[in-house]
Amino acid sequence: MGGPMFLSGKRALVTGSTSGIGLAIAQALHREGAAIVLNGFGDEALIARLTGELGADHVNADLTTRAGCEELMAGAGPVDILVNNAGMQHVAPVDEFPVDKWDAIIALNLTAAFHTARISVPHMKAAGWGRIINTASAHSLTASPFKSAYVAAKHGIAGLTKTLALELAQTGITANCISPGYVWTSLVENQIPDTMAARGLSREQVINDVLLAKQPTKRFVQPDEVGALAAFLCRPEAGNITGANYSIDGGWTAE
Ligand code: NAD
Repeated sequence: MGGPMFLSGKRALVTGSTSGIGLAIAQALHREGAAIVLNGFGDEALIARLTGELGADHVNADLTTRAGCEELMAGAGPVDILVNNAGMQHVAPVDEFPVDKWDAIIALNLTAAFHTARISVPHMKAAGWGRIINTASAHSLTASPFKSAYVAAKHGIAGLTKTLALELAQTGITANCISPGYVWTSLVENQIPDTMAARGLSREQVINDVLLAKQPTKRFVQPDEVGALAAFLCRPEAGNITGANYSIDGGWTAE
């Protein structure tokens, strides 16, 4: 039956964990014994199912505002593992980019991580142990046109992560980014039939020539693969990994 799992007794907050990558990270940390705090939107039935499956708490806070971030941290209580994962995207030319979308993307994808980190760090310092993991993106390392806010926020969170790593280097707290390429989510899968119809392409052409044009492996990253990397970064053996930005992008940023 084995001894205690390596995250037994640890409490992990994963923002944006009601779907996709965040949910997979929460599941991976739960499998290693962490108590989980979920955050993110979803209907009552979904939230009830997820909190039941993971024995988790859920704090329903909107992280585009400072008040929402503070509400989340008050609801979560002290956490040992902080995963900043909630994020959103908007695609438009810079001279047409809606200003409210810019503000929301910078707030959620970047500023929220500052608020959650500044509030989490005192407990982690007192405990002499902590893990901060930020879901960045291949777009923290490289750009694509029409994604000005997203690319700016993701480059920003990569810089914030490195700064946290240096400030906290002697506290037992590590701070790292995980930078996925194209991840297979239901959101991506659902786009395929419409794209096939709109462009007159086969399913394989849509996947390889449209969705995976930048991903040399021509395979989507699976949410579970991101979850496994996050769990690894929480292991004792990862205690000297800090300030790193781990690509999991099928070779995208190697080009
Ligand atoms: P998703 O849409 O499946 O999940 C986003 C999560 O964030 C959901 O739980 C949602 O409820 C939550 N959320 C959205 N707005 C919020 C808000 N204002 N306050 C609190 N929570 C909010 O997306 P995903 O693909 O799993 O993305 C998760 C992270 O991974 C994001 O930071 C995204 O930028 C990053 N990422 C995704 C991909 C990809 O291909 N899917 C690639 C690289 C990076």
